[in-house]
Amino acid sequence: MLKIGCHLSSSKGYEAMGKTAVSIQADTFQFFTRNPRGTKAKAMNEADVAKFLKLAGEEGITPILAHAPYILNACSADEGLRNLARDTMADDLVRMEYTPGNMYNFHPGCHVGQGTEAGIDFIAGMLNQILKPEQHTMVLLETMAGKGSEIGGRFEELRKIRDRVELRSHVGICLDTCHVWDGGYDIAEHLDEVVDEFDRVIGLEHLKAVHLNDSMNPLGAGKDRHARIGEGHIGYEALARVVRHPALRALPFYLETPNELDGYAREIAMMREAWER
Ligand code: FE
Ligand code: FE
Ligand code: ZN
Repeated sequence: MLKIGCHLSSSKGYEAMGKTAVSIQADTFQFFTRNPRGTKAKAMNEADVAKFLKLAGEEGITPILAHAPYILNACSADEGLRNLARDTMADDLVRMEYTPGNMYNFHPGCHVGQGTEAGIDFIAGMLNQILKPEQHTMVLLETMAGKGSEIGGRFEELRKIRDRVELRSHVGICLDTCHVWDGGYDIAEHLDEVVDEFDRVIGLEHLKAVHLNDSMNPLGAGKDRHARIGEGHIGYEALARVVRHPALRALPFYLETPNELDGYAREIAMMREAWER
């Protein structure tokens, strides 16, 4: 069966997210570990986590995907901001051990004029400080649109980051369909070629998750504005081919489309229909 869910609010805790997922026929979900624009996190509620783990086991809700706050920049020019990114993500990885066997996604960062190579070095350097051999979480680098000085707009950049990480067996990739489209990878007309290019540059065995979004902008716009499935420039049929693709169809898919729950429920049903065709 297609493994699909959407981004859910974490404000009411883990069990609430699990119940919400079940209510919209999702069998996974994504959530922010803390305020996406801040760095404060609530203390872990062990009773809530225990209830979630029971529900997740019964309903097959796995793997869940945590998303780091997007204000973090592991390759900022400011050492204090780089340290904040490092310390926040290190704390998130400790928290992730309460729900072992899941995934943690982050935006590589913006090099802000220092150059791509310097940025890649900072990002890999941070991962070398926070990854632990004994951790049970797969850390994912997200493909980005390449807006401004964003790193991760090219598969080659993600490959280089991963290559420079010692514990790279803990590092995978999350492919965001809106971001790669805005970055110039034509997943609508040339999906097979994009998949082959990913395999050649990074290796498909390192692709662990897909953010499934349509895009408000045309191919290569370099913008990063998510649209609902079928309401953007990628289109429903192209996204249906993404979830059905032999190299992708076993991956977990996470919707990050501008929707309320009923909209997410509709999109999940649409994509399940496409997958089973
Ligand atoms: Fe993201
Ligand atoms: Fe994304
Ligand atoms: Zn985005």
